[in-house]
Amino acid sequence: MLTLETLTPPREGERIEIRGSRLHVPDTVIIPYIEGDGTGPDIWRATARVLEAGIRKAYGARRRIVWFEVFAGEKAHSRFGTWLPEDTLRAFEYYVVGIKGPLTTPVGGGIRSLNVALRQLLDLYACVRPVRYFAGVPSPVKRPEQVDVVIFRENSEDIYLGYEFASGTPEARRLIEFVNREFAWKVREDSGVGLKPMSPTGSKRLIRKAIRYALDHGRRSVTLVHKGNIMKYTEGAFKTWGYEVAREEFGDRTITWDEVQARHGGQVPPGRLLIQDYIADVTFQHLLTRPRSFDVIATGNLNGDYLSDAVAAQVGGIGMAPGGNVGDFHAVFEATHGTAPKYANQDKVNPGSLILSGVMMLEYLGWQEAAEAIVRALEATFRRGILTYDLARLVEGAREVRTSEFATAIIDAL
Ligand code: NAP
Repeated sequence: MLTLETLTPPREGERIEIRGSRLHVPDTVIIPYIEGDGTGPDIWRATARVLEAGIRKAYGARRRIVWFEVFAGEKAHSRFGTWLPEDTLRAFEYYVVGIKGPLTTPVGGGIRSLNVALRQLLDLYACVRPVRYFAGVPSPVKRPEQVDVVIFRENSEDIYLGYEFASGTPEARRLIEFVNREFAWKVREDSGVGLKPMSPTGSKRLIRKAIRYALDHGRRSVTLVHKGNIMKYTEGAFKTWGYEVAREEFGDRTITWDEVQARHGGQVPPGRLLIQDYIADVTFQHLLTRPRSFDVIATGNLNGDYLSDAVAAQVGGIGMAPGGNVGDFHAVFEATHGTAPKYANQDKVNPGSLILSGVMMLEYLGWQEAAEAIVRALEATFRRGILTYDLARLVEGAREVRTSEFATAIIDAL
């Protein structure tokens, strides 16, 4: 039983349970949510309506979500004087799966980023970003429909750990003096310095998750993206560890590009998942010029950050890109854009990112039929030229609608 200091959990509904290596999802499931700051409440309201309608469409009264509001960001700060209350973390931990809108990053609040804090505390080590095109959405490239990738970005290490010292501080000077003396490094004395830790533990669990996902979803390939030509013992090692995981744990179901060329005349044999690797800069080029070369991508934290926004831009941009932060079992799904504060409470922005994050959540729960119904309704809405301002301004003859109207159009199309 969960007891919280400031919140009362819902009386109806049940929690998701971890049984052995699987999640057990009850038909009336409690899901904690954070509506988010700025435009968060607008897009949250739209999202909740669409998800509920999708579930009703797929399962009638048999399945239902009981929402449990928990707090973070500005709303938490004004109610409880803290940006990330302990109760919120405990609720996400207890109920296993949750969803959140965007949160303001407090400036000088003693907490670097609420999102990073949540990920670290729940050890949500994989940031999963599926990116695909929806017909009718304006795109800056000629063939956006060729983009269909799922990026697995490592979430728990790399330079995002924040081990940094500012230029000129005693700490930076000490560290520089140490490495210059002990390792004969030649770091300039007035440098700011940071540490980039990447471990086999962190890398392998991320890559393992990407390979499992690819196998479970009948995907063609997993590409390990790295900058190992320059950073050999971090980025380069990520690649080596990736091939190790594939060979040692999935050897009978995977094949490397070298093997395909050497033994199979350049054709991946049926039933095998291709494991390949690409240098990060080439990946950016090829994702633009030949996106079909990519399917599932596994990469480090910084590369993944850049890559996922760049690919999202190819298919219609930030208002549409969904994401999930996933650990061994725990998961928090979230809009990938920020709070867009200038549009707060105007019922204006695109709820697509949070709705599609909700769709990812339904898939994670195993409620595939509801997820598919919502995606079909979203496709139909775009095909009818019904768009929020961000996309309508790029499409001649579009019907511009508000956030809530966009949700209603999707629900009608269900
Ligand atoms: P932002 O909130 O993402 O907004 C930047 C611009 O992106 C907006 O002005 C708007 O462009 C467009 N945009 C964002 N969301 C949209 C949506 N749903 N529909 C349509 N257009 C959308 O970035 P920011 O202004 O740099 O950040 C604001 C706050 O959010 C900061 O406190 C930041 O730290 C935080 N943040 C939070 C998260 C998160 O919680 N995951 C992520 C990133 C940033 P136009 O003005 O051109 O229409």
